[in-house]
Amino acid sequence: MDATAMHLVWGVDRYRVPEGTRVDLDRLDPADRSLFPGSKREARRVLAELRDRLAELQRVFWADGRHGLLVVLQAMDTGGKDGTIRKVFSGVNPQGVDVVSFGKPTELELSHDYLWRVHRHAPAKGRIGVFNRSHYEDVLVVRVLGLVDEERWRRRYDHLVAFERLLHDEGTAIVKFFLHISKEEQRRRLQARLDDPTKHWKFNPADLEARARWDDYQAAYAEALSRTSTPYAPWYVVPADRKWYRNLVVAAVLVGTLEALDPRYPPPAVDPASVIID
Ligand code: ADP
Repeated sequence: MDATAMHLVWGVDRYRVPEGTRVDLDRLDPADRSLFPGSKREARRVLAELRDRLAELQRVFWADGRHGLLVVLQAMDTGGKDGTIRKVFSGVNPQGVDVVSFGKPTELELSHDYLWRVHRHAPAKGRIGVFNRSHYEDVLVVRVLGLVDEERWRRRYDHLVAFERLLHDEGTAIVKFFLHISKEEQRRRLQARLDDPTKHWKFNPADLEARARWDDYQAAYAEALSRTSTPYAPWYVVPADRKWYRNLVVAAVLVGTLEALDPRYPPPAVDPASVIID
């Protein structure tokens, strides 16, 4: 990796939520680009570097097989979860990555505890599991729409921390991203979905209902980020008004996370010098 890409990998720590801090989303700028003053064109080149590094790390990570990696993506509608997955993971071997989207729970899922449907999708050793929405919906949409009593969703912060602790203790590294967009940027993106016939399919009138509760969602996010960021499953608040910057930050965090796991190729099962292939 070149110096710019390395600068990003080191620098993204500024977006991590330290354990026990109170997050004030109003004070975190969704249009921040302080780690990369360069042009959008230069950003494309750096993203390519980070993607190559990610692909290289994933190959060793898979061969090593000691850990799994869980990547949680959360955002308001149009926040860019899908675009992030497409742009950041496009260089990685698809055989090693599982993307799971969590929508409204089914009847069956609702008849179990809320982590039931989630745990089975936690990544196996050697694999990267990407959650497009996640167990956090159970303290976000569930809270905002009052789908369960406050007493019940309030207890969930502790469950979430304990659940992630369990995954960590058993070999799963975890990293969580909140893609932070401004309300104005969401307006532009929703409008773009109305203006462009190739994006009509993406427009969901229900998104306007969530937008009408913008402040409630921001409050729910702020509390979830504040209560559930831990050293073993940190949250990153990613400035996401600029898609290219968002991609750089997410890719850099993933590179740093995998590097910290220090994956290695396992030793050969036999002495290669002793094998003769005729
Ligand atoms: P996306 O908006 O992520 O592209 P969808 O349009 O399928 O995908 O939306 C998924 C919907 O499912 C969202 O409105 C989200 O709030 C809802 N959802 C996800 N998890 C839960 C949950 N645990 N309880 C209730 N609703 C949920």
